[in-house]
Amino acid sequence: MEGEKKGKDDGKSPKKPEGKEEGAQGAQGGQTGGAIDALAAGLSNYFSSAVKLDDAEKVLSEVSFEGVAKYLKSDKCTNIITMAGAGISTSAGIPDFRSPGSGLYDNLQKYNLPDPMAIFNIQYFTENPEPFCHLAKELWPGHFKPTPCHYFVKQLHDKGKLLRHYTQNIDTLEHYTGLPADKIVEAHGTFRTSHCLKCAKEFSQDWIKEKIFAEETPTCDAEGCAGLVKPDIVFFGEKLPDRFFSCVKEDFEKCDLLIILGTSLSVQPFASLTGRVPTKTPRLYINLDKGNTDVDPFMMLLMGGGSTLNFDEEGNYRDVFKKATCDEGCYSLSELVGWGKDLRKTVESEHKRLDAEIATDKQKTNATKGASK
Ligand SMILES: [Zn+2]
Repeated sequence: MEGEKKGKDDGKSPKKPEGKEEGAQGAQGGQTGGAIDALAAGLSNYFSSAVKLDDAEKVLSEVSFEGVAKYLKSDKCTNIITMAGAGISTSAGIPDFRSPGSGLYDNLQKYNLPDPMAIFNIQYFTENPEPFCHLAKELWPGHFKPTPCHYFVKQLHDKGKLLRHYTQNIDTLEHYTGLPADKIVEAHGTFRTSHCLKCAKEFSQDWIKEKIFAEETPTCDAEGCAGLVKPDIVFFGEKLPDRFFSCVKEDFEKCDLLIILGTSLSVQPFASLTGRVPTKTPRLYINLDKGNTDVDPFMMLLMGGGSTLNFDEEGNYRDVFKKATCDEGCYSLSELVGWGKDLRKTVESEHKRLDAEIATDKQKTNATKGASK
């Protein structure tokens, strides 16, 4: 395994978190037997995807955005999986927290890091948590207001069609739409909870925010512990959450429509999930460009995936690319299905409600500040 890891980490893609192999192994129980099973499953999927489907097996009557909408509307489509990346949160003003090239990494010189990625490196954090905490304070969203795209995912749930929403984002916006927590898988963790690295005591989002904003090192308050407390976002060198792997195992074989939103599909093992749905399942990709649809073949095998997205290939019977922002794409889709009016209404009323809450919060904060003067 070690040899594989070195061979693959050739520095081509700095976005790939270290420890991805550990994660992928974790999916299969981390045993050699598990890895072999995964390879076997991957190979069998690979070969089955090479087989052409009969017309009767094809799910979409028309391989187009309209065709997907028609299918989505039908009773046959009840187990949708959505896979989301930073693109679904950009209109909420949330910066892409982990990815290089977002402008974030250009801003790190003041921390004197050994390298820019060190700020999200678990080893570095345990020795030197200040730079991360300082950056977290700088980037902490002033308010949490989900985007129309987030509300579209909630709409899929309300219509009884959402199997699960997988997100790479750590911004917790999904939760603010009212989507139940069990419908959400946060592949790269979340700021909603934090844990002590020593005794594993859990802390809330408000607790860590208070520490971060007071510029105090978050330290465990359990008696005699004083361990360092870390938000539950996945650092480089850490495994992905166990729930990610258990849900992937349970969900993807049941998926009857995959909707991929605002991710460049370049971070593993998340990206290889596109290959884990059944070979007949349609896959809709809403993004500004076609991203990295050449998925790492080794990761595909390891994760049990078999097929990359083939928008332009002859014989394509299921892959549709919609060039749009996530909000535009979701509004269009919702419109075609006949839910557009409802979606717009929800976004309007929910934003109004959240704006009022934000204003009240601001008043409270100002009052406290005034009182403490
Ligand atoms: Zn502790």
